[in-house]
Amino acid sequence: MTNSLSENPAHDIHDIIDVQTTDCCIVGGGPAGAVLALLLARQGIPVMLLEAHKDFDRDFRGDTIHPSVMEIMAELGLSDRLLALPHSKIRQLRIQTAEDSAILADFSHLKTNYPYITMLPQVKFLEFITQETQKYPNFQLIMGANVQELIITDGVVAGVRYRGGGGWHEIRSKLTVGADGRHSKLRQLGGFESVETSPSMDVLWFRLPRHPEDAEGGMGRIGKGHILVMLDRGEEWQVAYVIPKGGYQQLRTAGLEELKKSVVEVVPELGNRISNLHDWSQVAFLSVESSRVKRWYRPGLLLIGDAAHVMSPVGGVGINYAIQDAVVAANAIAKPLKNQNLQLKDLAKVQNQRELPTRIIQAFQTIIQKQIFTRILTSDQTFQPPAFLRLPILRDFPARLIGLGLFPVHVQI
Ligand SMILES: Cc1cc2nc3c(=O)[nH]c(=O)nc-3n(C[C@H](O)[C@H](O)[C@H](O)COP(=O)(O)OP(=O)(O)OC[C@H]3O[C@@H](n4cnc5c(N)ncnc54)[C@H](O)[C@@H]3O)c2cc1C
Repeated sequence: MTNSLSENPAHDIHDIIDVQTTDCCIVGGGPAGAVLALLLARQGIPVMLLEAHKDFDRDFRGDTIHPSVMEIMAELGLSDRLLALPHSKIRQLRIQTAEDSAILADFSHLKTNYPYITMLPQVKFLEFITQETQKYPNFQLIMGANVQELIITDGVVAGVRYRGGGGWHEIRSKLTVGADGRHSKLRQLGGFESVETSPSMDVLWFRLPRHPEDAEGGMGRIGKGHILVMLDRGEEWQVAYVIPKGGYQQLRTAGLEELKKSVVEVVPELGNRISNLHDWSQVAFLSVESSRVKRWYRPGLLLIGDAAHVMSPVGGVGINYAIQDAVVAANAIAKPLKNQNLQLKDLAKVQNQRELPTRIIQAFQTIIQKQIFTRILTSDQTFQPPAFLRLPILRDFPARLIGLGLFPVHVQI
């Protein structure tokens, strides 16, 4: 019987330990999947959330919660408790060269109750959201569930198979949501076609101690041919060292001492703590990508978050876009799921609402990468911050775009 449900079982069907059913099976416990699970669970919809890892703790996954997401948390009555968790706030992003400095984005002018970026370790955010969701008896979280196959019946996705707990398991669901991130397995299994752009940079991430006398907030520091972005995480700086695409091997060959030297050249104040960086294992490499799928859905399956659109780190908006996708998806599918009449047009609504904002932010990121990042990385001239950043009328635009986005998203269920 199990075999007849699948067009392509890749293993012996007798290996399956158990079969469960649900209304919505969400694959991936990142920001998109966790928030969608919460929104659907609150509506009394049976939801299962499958996460491949055994915990939420991964390094350098992006710890920024923008005002748009805090507004969503407030709509859910969660903002005060979220802000009670240890966090820091970034009110301005500054760009600084050896001779000059300018404010790239000033969130303090935004019309919101949360005019700042909340720096909260993503692991804490995900634990908070999933603990909240576990209050609903119709919700089930399965950690260590690595989804490897789709169950497809007559061309309709009818669930997934995952490996975990020593064997294969099957979940049958009315709707499967792929929220499984930039290397999405469901995107691949579902045969979704992507439109790629090729960002001209990669990023190395590492942490250094932050001293009480250091400046607060986030800043971009620019030297000849080098860019460093420093994010205030209370007692630490989370540092992004931007390199030209494909330059990582050359850097590794040159050695860690060369990297450290270059960091101190751009930010001399870090000279008294750079020795904390003593091994390449402290440095995480991010291959920057930017893409989006042409169609975000097929019968029985919807993609959201990075699974639908891989974001460049410029502006640090990936988490926020993922969560906004989750809210729009919940608005579109909750009622039809409850009424047992979910149709393809309900899934299409999600792409209709989210594709334009995604295209706009990706276009903005491409411009910043080409006009600012690539110029700096390929030039030995000192970079001057663009004059428009000093025009008050344009001053608020980057903060608005990064912090709130052009199309506000609200919880409507
Ligand atoms: C180094 C780095 C730094 C970043 N910094 C920032 C930042 O400062 N601000 C920002 O907004 N964004 C940042 N981003 C981007 C941001 O992390 C992503 O855009 C965001 O996490 C996307 O959320 P998501 O829920 O769509 O996917 P993810 O957060 O990637 O979550 C996907 C989840 O799916 C799980 N999964 C994957 N495959 C399977 C499977 N087969 N079965 C079950 N589960 C699976 C994964 O384990 C993961 O938990 C950064 C990304 C990286 C890599």
